[in-house]
Amino acid sequence: MAHSISDFLKRYNETKNLNIMITVDESWLKDHVREQSAVKGSLSDIMIVIKDNINVKGLPNTCGSAFLKNYISPYNATVIEKIKKAGGIIVGKANLDEFAMGSSTEHSAMGATKNPVNPEYVPGGSSGGSAAAVAAGLTDHALGSDTGGSIRQPAGFCGVVGLKPTYGRVSRYGLTAFASSLDQIGPITRTVKQSAELLQVIAGKDERDATSTDVPVDDYVGNLDRDTVKTIGVPFHLLNDGVHPDVRATFEHTIDILKKNGKKITDISLPHLSYSIAVYYILATAEASSNLARFDGVRYGIRHSEKVDSINDFYSINREHGFGPEVKRRIMLGTYVLSSGYYDAYYARAQKVRHLIYEDFQKALKTVDTIILPTCPTPPFKLGEHLDDPISMYLSDVFTVSTNIAGIPGLSVPIGHSEKGLPIGMQIMGNLYEEARILQLGNAIESLL
Ligand code: GLN
Repeated sequence: MAHSISDFLKRYNETKNLNIMITVDESWLKDHVREQSAVKGSLSDIMIVIKDNINVKGLPNTCGSAFLKNYISPYNATVIEKIKKAGGIIVGKANLDEFAMGSSTEHSAMGATKNPVNPEYVPGGSSGGSAAAVAAGLTDHALGSDTGGSIRQPAGFCGVVGLKPTYGRVSRYGLTAFASSLDQIGPITRTVKQSAELLQVIAGKDERDATSTDVPVDDYVGNLDRDTVKTIGVPFHLLNDGVHPDVRATFEHTIDILKKNGKKITDISLPHLSYSIAVYYILATAEASSNLARFDGVRYGIRHSEKVDSINDFYSINREHGFGPEVKRRIMLGTYVLSSGYYDAYYARAQKVRHLIYEDFQKALKTVDTIILPTCPTPPFKLGEHLDDPISMYLSDVFTVSTNIAGIPGLSVPIGHSEKGLPIGMQIMGNLYEEARILQLGNAIESLL
């Protein structure tokens, strides 16, 4: 991995064919490096790639959308302020599915990112650029956002580490909202320790995000070598035919290693998790349809039409040109499930099932310390493989969305490779605010493997 800005730029230029970054602005970077050289902190000299839906003052924040191509951010997200105070260096903005909606980066208006392990395959998404940046050696640290798996799934697909913190653990101020009750910012890094170091900096209460909480921030780094995980739950009933044999074999091999190292593996039941994809795609689209109303060519976004007969025509022309097909699909789905007549049947019911999923986790986590699952049911898929079939793309989120629904943290760590040499990840889930614990298990697995 690159150790200096010039190394980073060299590596960035060497890997341009992978389309990892949306913005690397060398003159902005020069000023920023000069400013940061005076700041001493836990991230001094550490270079960090930022997903292009997290605002960095003076840089574009495109969200992977043609609509925001010209938007330059006038402010810093809270996580960026914190990274700056800790001495970190922001090197640029990484590719993502448009407005973070997708699992492959193929929905980016700037074109898909390719998986650095094998460029015929997707890097996962939506934070595919951030995960690919780490896998390709641009930096060891990146930030992503995770609404239904967008940190963990690309980390799994690229063979790196990704952590979605507890809902409310990290401020969302300055993250362009997709589904506000599910979104969290978190680290994507080469090692578990690096994720702990980055979380240490960005976690905590923020007055500017009312949903951030003032639960004390643990010493993630200092506690990394402790061993507070004795029992691990596995919901074996979820590992059905949809799980690829290579994923199953790698996961079972990891279970064996954990057993040999004294962990107690328990079969647990999470009965409502089979509804999680349906619940997620109702709640996330409903919230997205409301959050994306601000992109209309007046408040935000490129204006495509000045001469129109009505204000409604003005909005629709701008939105027609501005949004890509997946975002339009989500807005339509979300508007539908919120419309009168369907609200009770879909949205209200999904909210109830959300609570049942939360209770499933709470019950299980009374009997075990953590829960593990493969991060994704399959190894990375080929570019284009799921593009014409949105449902098959949505199904790849089956193991990740439930933690967002329940608000609990999830960590993806690499556990091996498929027969074709593609990375496979495992997800460790813990109870609310138990990031320290899942990082400990992740760290242990990293050294065992
Ligand atoms: N793949 C999921 C989706 O398309 C998750 C996206 C995310 O976490 N931002 O909605």
